[in-house]
Order: sequence, then structure tokens, then C-alpha cells
Amino acid sequence: RELPGDPRTDLVPRQVFRSCYTKVSPSAEVDNPQLVAWSDSVAEILDLDPKEFERPDFPLILSGASPLVGAMPYAQCYGGHQFGMWAGQLGDGRAITLGEVLNSKSERWELQLKGAGKTPYSRFADGLAVLRSSIREFLCSEAIHSLGIPTTRALCLVTTGKFVTRDMFYEVAPSFLRFGSYQLHASRGKDHLGLVRTLADYAIRHHFPHLENLSKSDSLSFSTDEGDDSVVDLTSNKYAAWTVEVTERTASLIANWQGVGFTHGVLNTDNMSVLGLTIDYGPFGFLDAFDPSYTPNTTDLPGRRYCFANQPDIGLWNIAQFATTIAAAQLITDKEANYAMERYGTKFMDEYQAIMTKKLGLPKYNKQLIGELLKNMAVDKVDYTNFFRLLSNIKADPTIPEDELLIPLKAVLLDIGKDRKDAWASWLKSYIKELSASGISDEERKTAMNSVNPKYILRNYLCQSAIDAAEQGDFEEVRRLLKVMARPYDEQPEMEKYAGLPPAWAHRPGQRRRN
Ligand code: AMP
Ligand code: MG
Ligand code: MG
Repeated sequence: RELPGDPRTDLVPRQVFRSCYTKVSPSAEVDNPQLVAWSDSVAEILDLDPKEFERPDFPLILSGASPLVGAMPYAQCYGGHQFGMWAGQLGDGRAITLGEVLNSKSERWELQLKGAGKTPYSRFADGLAVLRSSIREFLCSEAIHSLGIPTTRALCLVTTGKFVTRDMFYEVAPSFLRFGSYQLHASRGKDHLGLVRTLADYAIRHHFPHLENLSKSDSLSFSTDEGDDSVVDLTSNKYAAWTVEVTERTASLIANWQGVGFTHGVLNTDNMSVLGLTIDYGPFGFLDAFDPSYTPNTTDLPGRRYCFANQPDIGLWNIAQFATTIAAAQLITDKEANYAMERYGTKFMDEYQAIMTKKLGLPKYNKQLIGELLKNMAVDKVDYTNFFRLLSNIKADPTIPEDELLIPLKAVLLDIGKDRKDAWASWLKSYIKELSASGISDEERKTAMNSVNPKYILRNYLCQSAIDAAEQGDFEEVRRLLKVMARPYDEQPEMEKYAGLPPAWAHRPGQRRRN
């Protein structure tokens, strides 16, 4: 670990060697900090009484201006591949970990302050957070959690009073370790590989303790693609079992994103959590109209490396970097690394197929039916969220006349011509045939489908409206969105407008495209 002379002033950007972190204190200036939004459920996991939020001195404590008792603030040192290119050392440039909270359930939660000021990893930037980005990150991490997808969490948002568009924001996760935390040391050569092992031991001990003492009876032996006599026994090497678990969590995470139409936007290896959490929300976006090539990141054009349909492949590319790193440190063999990569595809397909099957309420996976549907949705630019929500209203009745088939979907099949209506009617006929063979009642299927197809998602235009108001000092819309997105699968009749399609202004090219 690195111990600089004076953690408050020694913030010179530099390469930090043989160290996973640097001790550093928050230094962002605050004038009149105000707590503007918080999550009660995150307060609960920290054993924090929500009443504490009402204490007059609470915003000041949270602003980092007065040190927390027992805190040992530090900035993490990591590297990463950005857009497929090795970028060297990156690190926490605008986030500082204050410490870990050990709660009454003996869970460890790392508490991180974003926008806390410069660290040795700030490079050319100021270490401060921008209000609009923090609002997006705060709202989306809580929205993703409520959709049932693993993610870092957001505790609260504090304005600093110093500048209108600057703020601070508290993040919480069991760990913020990334693929890049391991890659950086391996990239520095043989002499630095010991740190990869130390950091792997740390992750396993604290976050994968079930892998610590595997025994033969855990039956983690698998044959590989190389043939029947090629067997990988994960019980004999905890690092191999760990790499496979990281792989499977990543595959499962991305399958879940595809299910709700979430596009991360910057899947660099420094933004890949070893715990399989959604981490580092930047220019993310949820699909409105279904478009496989959708990317919310304007710097991702024209390559669209991080577009919606590419996320599963990018997950594998990133896993390959991770497994290669662990192999370079000689913690796993090349064969075990290859095996982990093999498992990515299997796990992803299993999860993705299960998710799509549930979204359609089908009794079993039907590749052709799902493929046809996505093709039709892309052609007619159908809203990804509202379509699946409405699909649960289809009755499994093969006697419905052809000209009535589309009625339950008319709100999402807008402006389509006769030939497209025919294409949809034909798809619906095959769909209904599958449903009616299943024997599940319409009511039962609708309930099941609505529990996996959200009604409310954090659409970009909703975020934008909340940000516009917040920049004028009004945080009511931020708090309202937080509340609506906390129950994405429930009908919330008084909140119907939040399930609406984006208004015309949201499509205007060149306008409000900032992320
Ligand atoms: P991201 O795009 O959020 O993954 O960030 C990439 C790198 O840039 C990370 O090392 C961040 O810590 C750093 N970074 C991003 N914004 C700032 C900022 N305002 N000040 C200092 N460092 C930053
Ligand atoms: Mg990052
Ligand atoms: Mg970021």
C-alpha cells in the first residue's frame, strides 16, 4: 500500500506502483451542503436510521468536510482497456472510499464518496462530480436494483453549495474491485504478479468465502470442448473456481441487461465488477424503440462497440482479458482460462433464453418465435418496454379473428402499413398456438409476465426532465422518479405518465444529447 507524506496535499497525478490504493482525504470545497435525495433501502442496509437524514448537521458530515469517526479514506489504483485499447493506470479519479461499514447482519459494505476532490488518479481532471451525471448515476443504480439486477447502490446525493452544478454522491457496494484492478499489476511485468495473487486472495476471502475450502464432494469437475478426457477439476484450484464464478456472474448480469433493454455504454474493463455488479453509470440508456445497434454513448460512434446487441460479446472480450490476467499471474492454467471463457457462452445462453422465455410467457424456449419477434420489433421500431408489458394481454384463444389479433398491441404498433400488420398477425398466430398448447390460464400468465416485464424504466427523457428541474434548484422530480422506479413491475395508476413514450423533443437531433 502507498502512504504519501501528507494525504491532504500529496495529490500530484502519478504512476503508483506495487500498491492497490493510496490513502487520501476528501478535499472538495463545500459552502452550504444540502441533502437533496436519498434511498431509504440503502440506509437500511447500513443500519442507518432514516431519521438521521433529518439531522441539521447530517449534510455537513456527508459532504466529507468533517471526517467520519473510524474512516480510513483511500483511492483505489486500477487500470483498464478503454474501447479495446490498453489504457494503463486509471484509478479512482473522483471517488474516495471512506471505509467499510460492518452491519448488524455481519455484512461488509464499502462506502464511497464520489466528487470528493482530487486524488493521485485524477490525471487532468478536477475530481469533482457534475450534478447531471450524479443524478443519472444515483437514479439508475437504484432503478437497476429494483429491476432485480445486481448493482452498486446509491445512498444519497448532496449539493455542495459552492457551485450550482457540483455535488457529491454516496455509493455503496460490497466491493468496488474491477477487472482492471487485477490487470494493472499484471501489465507491469513479472515482478508485480505477486500483487495479483494478494488481491485475488483478498477477493476470495471476503467476497467468495465458499471457494476457500472446496472439497472433492463439491463435484466441480467438467469436461471441456477439447474432448472427454480433457477434464477441469475446479475443486483443486480455488483461483480457477473463482475465475469461473466471475465469468458466470458476468454472463448472468449481461443476460439480465438484455432482458430489460439496458445499455451500459462504456463497458471498459475498469467498469467491470469482479462481483458481477452493474458499476460506473455514465452514458447508459434504456432502449425505447427496439434497435439492436442502439448506443447511448456519442463517443462510441461510429464503431458502436458498446451498442445494445454487442454487450454479450463485449462481456466475453472483457472476461478473456480477466482470465488472461489471472493466468499470467500463474494462478490458473491456460486450460482453466479457456474453460472459464467456454463457460461464459453456456451461462449467457442459458440465462438469456430463460429470460426471453419468461418475457413472452412461453412454456418453453422457442428460438424461431423469439427471433421472428425481435426482427419484427426492429423493423417497426417498437417500444421494447411497453410491448412486453402489453403482450401479457393477449388471450390464448386460437379462434380470435385475424383482424382483431392486433387490438391489445395497438398502442405500440404505431403507423404500420398493411403488409406489416399481416406480418404481426402471422407472428401472433404462431404465438397464440404456443400459448394455447401450454395449458396455463391467461390470468396466471399475465401475472407471471408482468413480474418480469417492467412497466416503468428510467428512460432518458425522464432523467433529462429531472435534471433540468434540479439545475434550477428543484429536486422534487428526482425524488419522484426514485419512488416510481422503486416499483417497476407494479401498476401505479397515479404515475401512468412515467410509462409513456418519449416526447418529440427527446428525438430532436443535436438536442439534449449530453450524457
Ligand atoms: P469512467 O469513464 O467513469 O469509467 O472514468 C474513467 C477514468 O477517468 C477513471 O479513472 C475516473 O476516475 C476518471 N475520471 C472521470 N471523471 C473524472 C473527474 N471529474 N476527475 C478526475 N478523474 C475523473
Ligand atoms: Mg470507470
Ligand atoms: Mg464513471
